[in-house]
Amino acid sequence: VGAHARERRGINPFMVMNELEGGHGTLACSSGMMAVHLALLAALVDRPKRVVAGNVLYGATTHMLMTVFGALGVETHFVDVCDLAAFEAAVAEHKPGAVVVESVSNPLLRVCAVDKIAAISRHAGAPLIVDNTFATPMLLRPLELGASMVIHSATKYLAGHNDVLGGFVLGAAALVDKIKLFQKTVGGVLDPHA
Ligand SMILES: *Cc1c(COP(=O)(O)O)cnc(C)c1O
Repeated sequence: VGAHARERRGINPFMVMNELEGGHGTLACSSGMMAVHLALLAALVDRPKRVVAGNVLYGATTHMLMTVFGALGVETHFVDVCDLAAFEAAVAEHKPGAVVVESVSNPLLRVCAVDKIAAISRHAGAPLIVDNTFATPMLLRPLELGASMVIHSATKYLAGHNDVLGGFVLGAAALVDKIKLFQKTVGGVLDPHA
């Protein structure tokens, strides 16, 4: 898809990511952690300050939820993503402002049922943020399975050459516009050289 898009309209990471993840709004940012941060900010700013999250996330994401958002008053409940009954019960009990999972978790490689978790989240009115870094859109496209936002560390497989830091947030165009405003305000813009 990258070569195909490049041929047609020049190298544009936004368009390439849109094509790869299935045609929604895309925001590039300075790192994967910035993508996680912006997605959480956008989800929580006007929603309950509670998160239900997978219990085996990337270490820095768990750390961000606990020590950064936690210190700011956001309560996070970590639940086994492979135990759907427990996950559903936690979402029903805590009525979160956001649900966060990794489609394939790094580094423990737990695979969650994104479609089922999307249905549980939608039922509770909570946006589902899926970190799709490990799966890549080649293996899984969470937006097609009902996720509200997909995030990527482009530092990993997407860039592929161990030479660039970057991240992406994808979602509905209106949501991505909202995240763009946050990015303009808090920083974390992708370096044009990257
Ligand atoms: C590496 C990674 C991140 C963070 O990405 P950086 O670009 O290093 O900030 C986030 N989520 C997952 C699943 C990762 O593997």
